[in-house]
Amino acid sequence: MTVITRFAPSPTGRLHEGHAVSAIRAHDFARDRAGQFVLRIEDIDGTRSRPEFVAGIIEDLAWLGLRWDALVFQSARLATYDAALETLKTRGLVYPCFCTRAEIAASASAPQGDIGPAYPGTCRGLSAEAIAARTDARCWRLDMGKALAETGALAWHDAEAGRVVADPMQQGDVVLARKDAPASYHLAVTIDDAAQGVTDVVRGVDLFAATHVHRVLQALLGLPVPTYHHHPLVVDAEGRRLAKRDGAPALAAMRAAGEDGLALAARVRQRLL
Ligand code: GLU
Repeated sequence: MTVITRFAPSPTGRLHEGHAVSAIRAHDFARDRAGQFVLRIEDIDGTRSRPEFVAGIIEDLAWLGLRWDALVFQSARLATYDAALETLKTRGLVYPCFCTRAEIAASASAPQGDIGPAYPGTCRGLSAEAIAARTDARCWRLDMGKALAETGALAWHDAEAGRVVADPMQQGDVVLARKDAPASYHLAVTIDDAAQGVTDVVRGVDLFAATHVHRVLQALLGLPVPTYHHHPLVVDAEGRRLAKRDGAPALAAMRAAGEDGLALAARVRQRLL
């Protein structure tokens, strides 16, 4: 089977060295196995994605010497995500949610999931009449309890962590679509990894918790399960994860300062040995 990996940045800012490491890891994993590498632009968040960041990502990766076999834009695939959402709605696994962010945050009893506060379930179980009477749904949520009753116990293989038993309940009833964004990260990424034949998902350990959710969606939608490689994050001298807001230099700034992208990539690879 051909190994296929991907790098899947959201074009909401410039890339920094943490992104470079993740992209190089995914790229080299495929190249070392005569496989293929997909660049997927996760531009479904219409309010935050910007075309100049797409151009920046492409320039930065080329500067690092990376080449991709396919370039996919999530914004071109909205009908596919919507079709999947409709099947889940038809199966009664998705419900509309009318809560504002403030209402959810104010719910003191909300347990904290690893990827944000788990939704307290206020709109779960509203009657069909109550739903029909309203037109102001803010988002659509997966009824995680119902979903797990259908799928039963689930697990995945993580190259770093070994066999992981999925525990998606801790993430609660996650959002699958918003009124202003037709698919959430969870839904789009799960569908796309399957559609693009990704065999190995190489990404930062910050997305480990999200994989619990992705595993459930794979089971519900009958999708294959890739092997996961959640790698450690790049940290600065104080041990903090690199982030633009903390002043991590953008690759573009390094390039403008005359740095050689191939030399940077070589240094990254040396550190990964
Ligand atoms: N688009 C996501 C991000 O930029 C990454 C998606 C993934 O690798 O699964 O954080």
